[in-house]
Formats: sequence, structure tokens, C-alpha cells
Amino acid sequence: MKIAIDGPAASGKSTLGEALAARLGYLYFDTGVMYRAITLAAIQQHIDIRDEAALNALARQVNIEVTPPHVHDGRQYSVWLNGTDVTWQLRQPQIDANVSIPSTYPGVRQEMVRQQRLIAEKGNVVMVGRDIGTVVLPDADLKIYLDATVEERAMRRHRQALARSESSDYTSILAAMRKRDLLDSSREFSPLRAASDAVIIDSTGHAITEIISRVMQIIAMHGTGTGNVASGRAQSVTPG
Ligand code: C5P
Repeated sequence: MKIAIDGPAASGKSTLGEALAARLGYLYFDTGVMYRAITLAAIQQHIDIRDEAALNALARQVNIEVTPPHVHDGRQYSVWLNGTDVTWQLRQPQIDANVSIPSTYPGVRQEMVRQQRLIAEKGNVVMVGRDIGTVVLPDADLKIYLDATVEERAMRRHRQALARSESSDYTSILAAMRKRDLLDSSREFSPLRAASDAVIIDSTGHAITEIISRVMQIIAMHGTGTGNVASGRAQSVTPG
């Protein structure tokens, strides 16, 4: 059984993905960390992120590993870049501001998608990203496209930063998120969009617990491992 969850930043994908994986006993894999890790590697090595050829080469060179959390500091997993724990570094505003550029490069995407498919081949997985239902796992058994207004998504990020006692400015988060949404959805290769057979859920105004229950209901109604539960046309569902 493969579950694909796509959607824009802070739509609730990772919370939903982690919860589904825990309840179903599946592997949870957040593909965004791979694009973030490439971006961090470029910054660390003083490579201009606009140098497409250099980023394509970098994507093939770096070693990115995602493991269960090795420390308990609120992380969902640990991310290792060439053997170094970079889990929290990947969440810095500098990465948010730059990550959408390398993500437009077909060479970078090709390498990331190759690695993501290898991970998915290992067994049951909940994979989260922007192009999972459309490109990485087009035959996924269930495809969810999770959305929310950009204002609500920016507010979620703002509150999360404050909860971690970080300084945070809602207006600049909103502006950065609008910019990232635009870059992610307008790029030529694998743009952010719902697969034609995805279940589209708008989480605006809904607690993530409601969304989790709704998706668990969908899975219970259709069963797991019995073919493509989301086959047919895209459908929208209201949570709760
Ligand atoms: O999901 P997250 O916000 O961590 O993703 C960071 C960035 O990585 C996205 O804004 C997007 O540019 C890129 N990304 C992508 N395809 C994916 C996952 C993430 O292009 N499957």
C-alpha cells in the first residue's frame, strides 16, 4: 500500500503523514527534506544555487539519510547530510527562502525521484511532498491533496516558531510563503498540483485531528491494499 500526500507548505501534510503512518504501521517519508538538504549542501559549499549544472552534480554526490529520531527534541525524524545531523538546520528561514530554486532543476528532481522510488519499493509507505501523486508514485493506492489558505498556513508556521521560542514575524512568513507557493506551482517540471485522481481536502479552519480522522475514515471505507482507492476523478471532501 502506498499513500501519497501532496500540498503546499504548512498545509498539514507532515502531521497527517506521520499520524497515518503510525496508525497503519507504515514507513513515513517526507520528501521535502531531500530538497532542503541539497539546498543546505550548496550553501555550505558556497555553490551558487542558480548554478544548475553544479546543483545537478551536487544532487548525485551528496548522501542524504533519514532515520527515526536519534534524540527526542520534538523532531519527527533525523536527517543526515553526509553523515552530519542537519535536522533543524533544514528548517532555517534561509533554507525556506532558497529551496524552491534547486527544486526547479530537472537534474536535481530526477535524482531525488530515483531515490524516493527506491525507498517506496521497500514496502508500505506514506510519502509526502509536492509531486508524489503526480510523478513519484503515480500508481499510489491513495492520493491526498491537502490545501489551506496561505494566510492560515503562514499563521501556523508563525505559531510553531513562537512555540519553539524563536523570534517570528507573520508578515514576512506570509510573503515568503506566497513566493514559495508561486515558484512551486509555476515551475515547468513537476509543478505542485493535485493528481487527477487525488482526494482534495481543504484544512482551512479545521484541526489536524479532524483531517486525520477523515482520512482514516476514507481508508476504512475503501480498505487497504485492495487496489487504487482513489481511482477515478479528483474529488473534494470536507473534513469532520
Ligand atoms: O515540504 P517542504 O516545505 O519541506 O518542501 C520544501 C521545498 O522542497 C518545497 O517548497 C519545494 O520547492 C520542494 N519540494 C519539491 N518536491 C517535493 C517536496 C518538496 O519540489 N516532493
